Amino acid sequence: MQSLEEHLDCGQQLHINRELVKARVNALLDVIRTKQSRTAAVHDCDGGPYVGISGIAFMYWYLSQQSDLYTSEECDHFRNEALLYIRPAIEYAENIDKSSCEKVAKVAYLLGNAGTYLVAALVYNAIGDAANRTKFVEKYASLAAICRMQQYLSKGSDELLVGRAGYICGALYLNKALHMQIIPNEVLENLAIATIESGRQYATSRRIHYCPLMYSYYDTEYIGAAHGVAGIIQVLLQIPNFARLTPEIERDIKTTIDFLLSLQTPSGNFPCAMDELGDRARPEEDELVHWCHGAPGVVWLMAKAYLVWKEEKYLNSCVRCADLIWKRGLLRKGPGICHGVAGNAYVFLLLYRLTKDIKYLYRANKFQEFIFTKEFKKGSRIPDSPYSLFEGFAGTVCFMTDLLQPEKAQFPLYTDVFD
Ligand SMILES: [Zn+2]
Repeated sequence: MQSLEEHLDCGQQLHINRELVKARVNALLDVIRTKQSRTAAVHDCDGGPYVGISGIAFMYWYLSQQSDLYTSEECDHFRNEALLYIRPAIEYAENIDKSSCEKVAKVAYLLGNAGTYLVAALVYNAIGDAANRTKFVEKYASLAAICRMQQYLSKGSDELLVGRAGYICGALYLNKALHMQIIPNEVLENLAIATIESGRQYATSRRIHYCPLMYSYYDTEYIGAAHGVAGIIQVLLQIPNFARLTPEIERDIKTTIDFLLSLQTPSGNFPCAMDELGDRARPEEDELVHWCHGAPGVVWLMAKAYLVWKEEKYLNSCVRCADLIWKRGLLRKGPGICHGVAGNAYVFLLLYRLTKDIKYLYRANKFQEFIFTKEFKKGSRIPDSPYSLFEGFAGTVCFMTDLLQPEKAQFPLYTDVFD
């Protein structure tokens, strides 16, 4: 008997039970609403949108934008819920700003105040509160002056979670979501040039000859999306026309991507960091297959590279990432998007958009179904922040929503690689 995948290869239609997916989303929303407190205390707000409640506000804002899936009453309800979560998160962020806390908490995108102010601007824009939208847009924009300094953080200023790539990513997100040039292209270009210079200087200082751009975070040369060179370069490619600003920039970016491509393992994965190459590679069973470390994060760079240069080798790399995730991506670390099942399943939605091959929708749906099995509940570790955007159910909700509208699927707080 043919397997379902073979049927799909024959062009048969895939059936995603939309009502069941929506019912599951509603059940998850009930869990989040009843279990996740919304106070301005550190245990609710620390970690920005990544694990703090500003990430839950983002999830509700994202739902409120899906007028094809939800009624106007439902969208109103989501906007109100977003407001209930973002208000205490703002109070917490403003207290951090006034405190003597480290700069990193004040400028970080996914892990700190920049991300919270971005979500605040989105939520106030959605409810038509122009004064508050402007206030938080200005707070976000004002951080550009800090991020322009080449080494403004002591442990690495360039990566996505706390550094300059994150700030640029948020700026692009805001510009698109609010249909305004909040952060001018010139400012974005200057930030991107600072990032290129930082990567060149680091590579030169460490006598790295095989790759023109390299970065470190806490003294580790990470490769993946969360702290690594792949996440940084991907954001630079998202800035309109930046990759071709000068022949030298294009050469350095593309050479770096091609170097990363050369690191893809026979199984399709990417090492976590430069100190895990060759003889020092992890045994295959210990390799990480996460958005934060490994193929599920690097794939977004390869997809963007394919869309910019149209070279098949980048698309082939994406296909290999997706095949690896299909084999090894059902993680035991929870349902989240950073190192969980939903983050890996997002890759199938990306591949579906890239190739239009329905096989990837089938795979995304299978991962969705797995999250609701007894096997998953029994074998999966409960993350520290079980309802959050990056570790918990809020990210799962975003993924399941995108499963119902795969043409528009977009990893939360990322810019769209198709832009
Ligand atoms: Zn992670």
